[in-house]
Amino acid sequence: MSLPSRLRRPEYTGENRCWPCTVVNAVVVVVASALLGVVSPPLGVLALLAGSALVALRGYVVPYTPTVAPRLIARLPVDVGDRFGHARPERADGGRTSESLVDEEVDGDELIRRLVDAGVVTADESGDLFLADDVRRSWEAGMRRLRDVSDAELAASTASAAPFPAEGRVEGDGDWVVVTRTAVAEEDRDDAETVAGAGGDEVWLSRAHAVADTAAVAAIGDRVDPLTAAQAATPIRLFLESCPVCGGAVEETVVKNCCGGTVGVYDKPETPVLACADCDELLYEF
Ligand SMILES: [Zn+2]
Repeated sequence: MSLPSRLRRPEYTGENRCWPCTVVNAVVVVVASALLGVVSPPLGVLALLAGSALVALRGYVVPYTPTVAPRLIARLPVDVGDRFGHARPERADGGRTSESLVDEEVDGDELIRRLVDAGVVTADESGDLFLADDVRRSWEAGMRRLRDVSDAELAASTASAAPFPAEGRVEGDGDWVVVTRTAVAEEDRDDAETVAGAGGDEVWLSRAHAVADTAAVAAIGDRVDPLTAAQAATPIRLFLESCPVCGGAVEETVVKNCCGGTVGVYDKPETPVLACADCDELLYEF
């Protein structure tokens, strides 16, 4: 293998070249060579040639540019959008975001009214909502239990929390629980409403959300109908005080400070979120 082909990094050159990174690096090479040239002109020329060759062959010369440049830019008070095409690296899961057990529009006010009526949440004089103490205890106990079960058991439990016949499986080394609807909604459910969708529809939940939602449905399932319980599971994530997967403290932060920052799938760095202080798991996006 020739030296140039050994140095070449196809993932950062040719079609994959990141032009903002190339420009940043070219500027670095020119400035560094000029500074070196002041000390020793031949050395400056050599640095310019070597640096340019590396940028041409490898796409960048400053180590970790593909990782660092987008974060650097994210901190600058300018909006460059996602011109850093690689700001979201290819992920095994295709860069997906966690979904909800029930994939349909929900009337938030109506849902809250039902949850208040059922004693699942309580509202104080100012209208702030709280999870009822006994619901929280049952929910948190359920999460602690599900944290330790096998992938297969978690997948089966999550599937049974869906308000339709479903099967569960785990993907991405256990990072995702996928719930697949096996049939259209049964007509004889307590609630007359039917859930939109047909057999084969899939819902992808992060493991944290699968644990939280499955335990939430179990905690409130005797107070509301299965569809309401599944719909409520997503907003109930807002009440998390400990991480569903590791038990760590939940903190309010912004996307750029957690969960892979702006190189993750969430590209709005200032989006406020709830995340685990210990394992960095994204738990709720406001
Ligand atoms: Zn955690």
